[in-house]
Amino acid sequence: MHLLWAGSRADEAAARIRGQSFVDGGILRTVRETRAAGEEALVEIGRRRLRSFLKHGVTTLEAKSGYGLSVESEEMLLRAAGRLAAEGPQSLVLTFLGAHVVPDERAAGDYLDEVCEVMLPRFRGLASFCDAWSDPGAFDAAQCRRVLSRAAELGYMLKLHAAQLAPGDGVRLAVELGAASVDHLHYLREGDARLLAMSQVVGVVCPGTAVNLRMATEGSARSLAGAGARLAVASDFNPGTAASENMCLTIGLACLELGLSPEEAVLGATINGARALRAHRRCGSIRLGKRCDLALLDAESYLEIPYRLGVNLVSATVCNGRVAHAA
Ligand SMILES: [Zn+2]
Repeated sequence: MHLLWAGSRADEAAARIRGQSFVDGGILRTVRETRAAGEEALVEIGRRRLRSFLKHGVTTLEAKSGYGLSVESEEMLLRAAGRLAAEGPQSLVLTFLGAHVVPDERAAGDYLDEVCEVMLPRFRGLASFCDAWSDPGAFDAAQCRRVLSRAAELGYMLKLHAAQLAPGDGVRLAVELGAASVDHLHYLREGDARLLAMSQVVGVVCPGTAVNLRMATEGSARSLAGAGARLAVASDFNPGTAASENMCLTIGLACLELGLSPEEAVLGATINGARALRAHRRCGSIRLGKRCDLALLDAESYLEIPYRLGVNLVSATVCNGRVAHAA
């Protein structure tokens, strides 16, 4: 998920609901607003969002950069996320997403040179993962391979956003590079589901985004689950297509819109979510030796999550053995 960004794109979302086009919106609009906000404002925004995630039972989160797209502003985003990680109570995993889109003022090749030769070496101590987006309007598979291969050389763990907007080589690339996860996967190519199932790569489905883009077909998530691929269920919290912290809603939509069973969706939001962050040895399930992170539900069973669609059933959240939120 994309924890830190400034501004609101509610007007754009409304235009999409009405079937109207929206001029000058998109990721680059958020990039302008995020750069202008500055580090202190972003830390405060992040703090508020983390409090809301806590009320929704979320104890471990990923904070991707990717709304700065320059050396200084990507560093600012990672530094702000690092400060929030130090504050707690939730545990944060930091991901550098310089290869999100090409910034307004740059040419793609020149920008990627900077990502590979300046940003990746410089952010090594700040972020543990590197991510890239392979889709029309973002980067192609060759460009993503270049960024992620360089990141792997420098010791980053890898993630890939892929096949959100069109079919592509994302699954193949993620498996080839040994990524922790490949995210979105609205479109699958022949053989992708089997390939993913035979690998250690987690497929991350983002039901909120799928619904917002009206791409919520049962097809791809169901065939991935059917093939035996490990699936994580994520909020994809971001300003464009999924600005909701409500994980009960996300799990419900994974069932009702993507066709996952309640068990697949709950495992997707817990242990497989942890696996997508390579954090499954320390969290994601209740086991001796793991950190005690719990979301207590005011419900008879987890089956009420999709049943009472959209209701935040979390009555208390425990982070690392301490009650961090009680309703
Ligand atoms: Zn995303």
